[in-house]
Amino acid sequence: VSPAPCEVCAGTTHRPLFVRDGYEFLRCSGCGHVFLDLALGDADLARLYATAFFRGGAYSDYVRDKAVMQRNFRRFVAVLRGYGNGGRLFEIGAAYGFFLELARRHWRVEGVDIVGEAAAYARTALGLDVAAGDFLELPLVEAAYDVVAMWDTIEHLRHPARYVAKIGRILKPGGIVALTTGDVGSVMARVRGRRWRLYHPPFHIHYFSRQTIADLLSRHGLAVVSIKAVGFDRSLDTMLYRVLADGKPAVLRAAYRGMRGLGFTRRALYLNLFDIMLVVARRV
Ligand SMILES: [Zn+2]
Repeated sequence: VSPAPCEVCAGTTHRPLFVRDGYEFLRCSGCGHVFLDLALGDADLARLYATAFFRGGAYSDYVRDKAVMQRNFRRFVAVLRGYGNGGRLFEIGAAYGFFLELARRHWRVEGVDIVGEAAAYARTALGLDVAAGDFLELPLVEAAYDVVAMWDTIEHLRHPARYVAKIGRILKPGGIVALTTGDVGSVMARVRGRRWRLYHPPFHIHYFSRQTIADLLSRHGLAVVSIKAVGFDRSLDTMLYRVLADGKPAVLRAAYRGMRGLGFTRRALYLNLFDIMLVVARRV
């Protein structure tokens, strides 16, 4: 079975790049776009997400990390305000609503998330207008929004071109879309090869470069106005949890609990590895 046409250029020829964790990565011969040859069906993917979501106790971790996440979102709000204030903003992949909670001070906000529990939290705990479901299936008024935001989401989508096309339709002329995603053309990605930290099959399906994300957006009437490498605040707690506690020996887990007890883990660390890009494009 050959994979679907390239999401960026619609080309049908590609060559194998490498295999990681049992998944084959492909590069489009037409435009160079890197993507996963995913044999999983939509039902398999949905099950994978449900499993990953519940296994990590993702809910409590996510809510615990709220302060750290909002340090990142505050920077994104500032970037967006540089392009204009007020009007309507829509977020795709709104999760628990932590970005929209900050954004609603400046825009009338709405959003959607595929994870029902996250959207329900945004609605009930934060009073936000966040629907549960797929953005492609939401009935939205065309040419109605000033801003569409999509943080760390496009790489998860099976058909990003369909999302970008719909974003182009719901934006007002002159409205902007802002997104973050890994940069497969970055020095870090090139140096690390198949071991790059953002190769994450089967969750990350599409791997854009500055060139391929600009190509995809422009094919749908969205002209790039800015692409910048951005860093992120990460919670020390989450990092230490992964290194010391997640499935680790008892002595390491005890060390982790000790550090947590001392309040040591309530810190954040800003890290910019120049392999995540913030892309802003305008509807022409
Ligand atoms: Zn292509």
